[in-house]
Order: sequence, then structure tokens, then C-alpha cells
Amino acid sequence: MDDRECLDRLDSTATDTEDLFEHFERRTAAGRTYHALPNARHGIERGTIVIEDTVVRGYPKIPRILVIEAGVPSFFENELAVEEKLDGVNVRIANIDEPLAFTRSGYVCPYTTARAKELLAPADFFREHPNRMLCVELVGPETPYTTHDYDEIDSHTFCVFDIRDRESGEPLPVLDRRELCSEYGFPQPRLFGRYRPSQAIDGIRAAIEMLDAAKREGVVIKTLNGEKMAKYTTKSQHHEELAYAFSLPFDRGRDFVFSRLVREAFQAAEFEADDDQLRKRAHRLGEAILLPMVETIRDTANGRSIGEQFTVRGSPEQIDALLEHLYDQSLTLEINEITRENDEQIVEFVKVAEATRDQIKYYLEEGVH
Ligand code: ATP
Repeated sequence: MDDRECLDRLDSTATDTEDLFEHFERRTAAGRTYHALPNARHGIERGTIVIEDTVVRGYPKIPRILVIEAGVPSFFENELAVEEKLDGVNVRIANIDEPLAFTRSGYVCPYTTARAKELLAPADFFREHPNRMLCVELVGPETPYTTHDYDEIDSHTFCVFDIRDRESGEPLPVLDRRELCSEYGFPQPRLFGRYRPSQAIDGIRAAIEMLDAAKREGVVIKTLNGEKMAKYTTKSQHHEELAYAFSLPFDRGRDFVFSRLVREAFQAAEFEADDDQLRKRAHRLGEAILLPMVETIRDTANGRSIGEQFTVRGSPEQIDALLEHLYDQSLTLEINEITRENDEQIVEFVKVAEATRDQIKYYLEEGVH
């Protein structure tokens, strides 16, 4: 397809082809060349892909509600569904001669592609729905991108939270999508209920309290046609993300930290009527900030690895493809352990956080700012 046709099919707000296509990056994977948009531009979502004659839209950004009582009725007018938000990594799976898994920023991840083929077995789905994409969260303690633990997941799994037309991005209605997922045996996030906006507040609060007690992430609230969405997350998630950010203080940006403190403050104002509870929460927040940072300073002083630790499992070919893919993205990795279990390799590695390691080392040696 030529650039003009591609621009029309993308339905972009860009007026000429150059305006948009200069922002696309040329990449290769599995011997195929494709073009990916690394950041949202001209009405086109981040991670949008053009591969041969096929367009695969990026997954849209989901706005965040800060105050449930005000945000839900002002954002939603019609009936809505509340689903669990799982803490993992966003993957789109589209069939382009074969199923390919794209990350949020539009890379084909060979490891995720191979694991998705094995665990979801999407061939039947794509035979009947060739132009749709599965929008999936890769979750569990053993993934190369996130490590959130879920009691029911030993290693990793793929949970389908959306099914969209791959070119227009138009979603299936929530209940149709859930039915389709059951039909094909795809795991999916739990549905807490359907509500009118004015009645949803109590339902969302109850879901959040229950999820928080189980240290789970939060909810995504969606209109029944699937088009409008908003997210809301738990206290335990805020603390987990702050602990993560402060464990790598010079790699995680200040915006990352500030936005999470703001959401924590608005939630505390809405949920904690009791002063003692608020004080306990403040104490836990302080621990989430200070303890991981001190641990990282001490680890640096003791010459330990500084960075995020991951464990992945798969066939030796899948593991090799993954490591090559991560090295291609200029990550510095330390491979700590490789073990075997039946036909699978289990690899523990650290994505080294060089800025944090080097900055802390400097302060420890020089003692001045
Ligand atoms: P965003 O750009 O949408 O703000 P983000 O990268 O900051 O994305 P999050 O804050 O984690 O991501 O929230 C959005 C992501 O939540 C979605 O892209 C999707 O991967 C994930 N998610 C998990 N469960 C669901 C669900 N039930 N419905 C929709 N998205 C879900």
C-alpha cells in the first residue's frame, strides 16, 4: 500500500503523509520488515504497526479516575461494566500469516509470540476472526517485563481483556467479547458487575477494598459497547509501584513518582475517614519510599546487582530469541542462573539499572551532591 492509502486507512489527523510517517520507525523481526509508531501522534495510538498490507492499531490510553464519587458520574453517562485490571504487560496479538505478539510500543516480541501461541492456541480464533486482534495482559511472576505475583498463577498466563478490529481499533461490546473468550477457552479478567453510573460508586469501592486486601491492582470501568474506559487502582498497587520506583530512584523519572503520590493522596482523602487509619497509611507509604531506597544504597555499597530481577521459562530457542530481543533494545543484562526442568530452561536475569547504580556509587565514593 502507498503512503497516501495508508494515511487514509489510519484515519489520522495528519494532513500530509510526511507529517505522520517521519515518526514511524523501521524495524525487523523474524525476517520481516515493519513500521512502528513509538509515541502517539496525529490521533494515532502509540505502538501502531504497518506490516506489509496490514495495519495494527495501538491500544488506546486509558484515562484514570482520581476521585470515584465525582469521576464516575462525570465520565460515564450510560450503563457500565467493572472488570478487574490485571498487573502485567499489554500485548496485542494479530494474525499476519501467523499470530504475532506486539508490545505496547510496537515491537514484535519473539518470546511472547511463541508463548502466546502455546498457551492461547489462537489459530481457531483467527481462522474465524482474521481481522480482529486479541488485546491481552501477560501476567505472572515469570515474564520478561513484569513480575506481579498472583496466587492462582505459578509462572505466567495470557488474559484477554479486549478484542478489537485490528485496523480501526473498534472494540467488541464487553459482554460479546466475554462470551467469545469463553467459547475459545481464553482466560479473562473477572467481571465485578454492571451498573448505572450513579449506582456504580458503592460497587467500585467494594471491589477496590477487596482487591486491595488481596494485593491486586484495581479495576477498569467500561461502557458496555467497550468504547469508553477509565481505570482506578488500589492502595497496595500505589505502594508497590512507589517501592519499585524508589528502589531504582535515578532510573525512574520524577513524573512517575509524583503521579503515584497524587493518586495515593486523593484515594486517602476519599477512603480514610478515620485519622488513625490515615496515619497508618502514611506510615506504610513512608516505608514504601524509604526502605527500598536504603536497600539499594546498601546493595550498591556491597557490590550487588542493581536493577529489576526477572525469571522466565521456555524452550532453549524461545529463551535465546528473548535474550537477543532484549539485547537488541540496548538493555544491559546480567544472567544470574540457568536451570533446566524437563524440556524447559529457567533463566534468572537482571535488567541492570545503570543510572541508579552509577549515581549511588558516585555519592557513596564522593559523599557530596
Ligand atoms: P495507559 O497509556 O492506558 O495509561 P499504561 O501503560 O500507563 O497505560 P496502565 O496504567 O497499566 O498502563 O493501564 C492500562 C493498561 O491496563 C492497558 O493497556 C492494559 O494493558 C491493562 N489492563 C489490565 N487489565 C485490563 C482490563 N480488564 N481492561 C483493560 N485494560 C486492562
